[in-house]
Amino acid sequence: METIKKGRPQKGWTKEYECTGAGNKGGGCGAILRISQRDLYKTVSEHWDGNTYYTSFTCHDCGVETDIPDPGVKLLGKRPKQKE
Ligand SMILES: [Zn+2]
Repeated sequence: METIKKGRPQKGWTKEYECTGAGNKGGGCGAILRISQRDLYKTVSEHWDGNTYYTSFTCHDCGVETDIPDPGVKLLGKRPKQKE
């Protein structure tokens, strides 16, 4: 294969999400954030009849966690330490 004209550089998966605090009692600041795989991590909600897993990110402006539908990408982030 030969590149005749270079395309745009691949920057990996990103998607825009709103900071809503969904799944975490709300209270998000409403910022629109460009989220990459490194911002996403899995969270678990423990119930008496089993655990439910969510994909989440934490807004860097207000620190509120928002759950999003499974984006179908590998999650590379880690949950930030909770403030005490
Ligand atoms: Zn926020």
